[in-house]
Amino acid sequence: MSFQNPVFIPGPTNMPEALRKAVDMPTLDHRSPLFGQILHPALAGVKKVLKSESAEIFVFPSTGTGGWETSITNTLNAGDKILAARNGMFSHRWIDMCQRHGLDVQVVETPWGEGLPADRYEEILTADKNHEIKAVLATHNETATGVKSDIAAVRRALDAAGHPALLFVDGVSSIASMDFRMDEWDVDIAVTGSQKGFMLPPGLAIVGFSPKAMKASGTATLPRTFFDIKDMANGYAANAYPYTPSVGLLNGLNMACGMLLDEGLENVFARHHRIAEGVRAAVRAWGLELCAASPEVYSNSVSAIRTPEGFDANRFVSLAAEKYGVAFGTGLGEVAGKVFRIGHLGSLTDVMALSGIATAEMVMADLGLDIPLGSGVAAAQDYYRGHEVSASKVAA
Ligand SMILES: *Cc1c(COP(=O)(O)O)cnc(C)c1O
Repeated sequence: MSFQNPVFIPGPTNMPEALRKAVDMPTLDHRSPLFGQILHPALAGVKKVLKSESAEIFVFPSTGTGGWETSITNTLNAGDKILAARNGMFSHRWIDMCQRHGLDVQVVETPWGEGLPADRYEEILTADKNHEIKAVLATHNETATGVKSDIAAVRRALDAAGHPALLFVDGVSSIASMDFRMDEWDVDIAVTGSQKGFMLPPGLAIVGFSPKAMKASGTATLPRTFFDIKDMANGYAANAYPYTPSVGLLNGLNMACGMLLDEGLENVFARHHRIAEGVRAAVRAWGLELCAASPEVYSNSVSAIRTPEGFDANRFVSLAAEKYGVAFGTGLGEVAGKVFRIGHLGSLTDVMALSGIATAEMVMADLGLDIPLGSGVAAAQDYYRGHEVSASKVAA
């Protein structure tokens, strides 16, 4: 690997220098008002990024996976019924976690490459007359397949069924890079982490709880200690944590929210869309296909690219790392060896994306794939030249 090159894994992302500096702090007393001056603006910033007026924000020293655990242990009881769809490795892992916590998960098996089946959700919820299902899980962006799902449609499914289940959304690889509307979609718990759209090092689980989810936490009996939101809320009220917080990362989070909001969330989303469209133009020019089944589900934060039958996609990722010092994402689970992934989220520009596309072409040519050098680069260049973004809007 070379530290000079950008990474093209779908998290951790490239980091802006300003954020790297912001997380590098001298020790301060994490039970002092000074800590409160970092903590409270960071929480307020996250709330804006989630587009919520009413959410309570909690930030744990953890990762997105800890955010999943926070969502279920604070709101549910052993044996509770949960509805979830499995359409990739991340939705699979969340389901697995629920099962390990003794929850009864009704799993809708969904082809990897497709989005969440909101219509199936509606049928199942409508049939659940006694309202035994307590929560619905939705992975907004399946990072394993590069598939975005329609969370508004999942909300409509709940509403059409007149069902009171809580809606938990994994937005780990969508929040702060793709449009996310906690209040408008009536999301009860939003889960993310520091190392994706927030452009920070890994180390924080970031969650938002709606008033309804806060209420559920009052009666939930699944065991929790480290991830107890009540302990955390009590800590926040005293400018502290129930334990030692990651002060530097929280300082970075505060600054990351400032950068995202200064750039403007809609501009951040437009930048991700534009960069992703260039990558997708390159994939088309290579004659390859995305794992994502159709344009409505294309992810703007990661593209999973199918390699030809019989070609081991892991060789692509290894050679890119060994020969060119560039990191791409491997295929996970069912699509291991069948896809490689280009992460295009976080601190990224079109110029950086072009370097990743050019590297991918060298690697594919080295491995004997019939990809004319420059074909994808030219397609992406054409797209970027025709879809300008003003330089002042790029916070990277
Ligand atoms: C990265 C990711 C996770 C897991 O987050 P960690 O920070 O690795 O624990 C969960 N869900 C999605 C969709 C992700 O992309």
